[in-house]
Amino acid sequence: MDSALAIQAYEELYGKTPLRKMEVKYHGGLKGYNATVQQTMTTTTFRLSKRFKDCEDEIKIGVIQFLFTKLKKTKQTTDNIELYHSFLKNMSDFAPVTDIDPILEESFERMNERYFKGMLNKPNLVWGRKNKRLMGTYEYGTDTITISRVLQDAGEMLLDCVMYHEMLHKKHKFSCSGGRTHSHTPAFKKDEAKFYDKHAEEKLGRFLAGKKTMKKRKSSFLDRVMGWT
Ligand SMILES: [Zn+2]
Repeated sequence: MDSALAIQAYEELYGKTPLRKMEVKYHGGLKGYNATVQQTMTTTTFRLSKRFKDCEDEIKIGVIQFLFTKLKKTKQTTDNIELYHSFLKNMSDFAPVTDIDPILEESFERMNERYFKGMLNKPNLVWGRKNKRLMGTYEYGTDTITISRVLQDAGEMLLDCVMYHEMLHKKHKFSCSGGRTHSHTPAFKKDEAKFYDKHAEEKLGRFLAGKKTMKKRKSSFLDRVMGWT
C-alpha cells in the first residue's frame, strides 16, 4: 500500500508514471529517521526507518522524493521535500541520545562551556571510519556528531576544532555532508571564526599530510546512511 505513495511521489516529481516497480519497506535496523534507496533494472526499493511508519503521508512522500533526487543526482526540491527536511530538523530535538564516547564527550563539554555557555544539548557522539577527507559530520535525523577515527591521535586542539565545527552545524541546523554540498552560511562562518587557535586549519592540514595516504573512499558515512552525496 505504501508502494502507492512511492508512485505518487514519483509522478509529482517527474510528471510521469515510473517504469520500475516500487517497493517501500520499513526497517527496524535503521537508526532515527534514516532511509535508503536501491535500484535494480526492474525495481526501486525504499527502506525507511520504522519510525516513519507513523508519519503523515506528506512526509513519507517527501523522504521518497528526496531519495529519488539523490538517485538521479538532481537538485530538485518540492514542498514535500522541504516538509521532510523541516520535520527532520525538529526531530533532532527529540532523537534518542544513547551513544556517547567519553573522549568525544570531553571535547564536546570543553567546546560547549567555551562557546555555547554550556547550553547546547548533547547529541550522540561517535567515532566514524578512519576517513582523511571527512573529518566529521552532524546528522540531524539522529542528532549525531560523528568524528573520523583519523583524529584519535591528533591532540586536543584539532579534535576540538572539528568538534566545534560540527556543533555549529547542530546549532545552525542544516545538513553537512562533509565538503561537497556544504552550505556554510555567513552566520556559521562568523561563529566558526571565534575558535581560539587561528591556525587550526593549517595545523589540521599538516597533521593529515603526515598520515599515510588512504585508499580512495567509496562513500562517506552519510552517503551510506542517508543517501546524501
Ligand atoms: Zn561543515
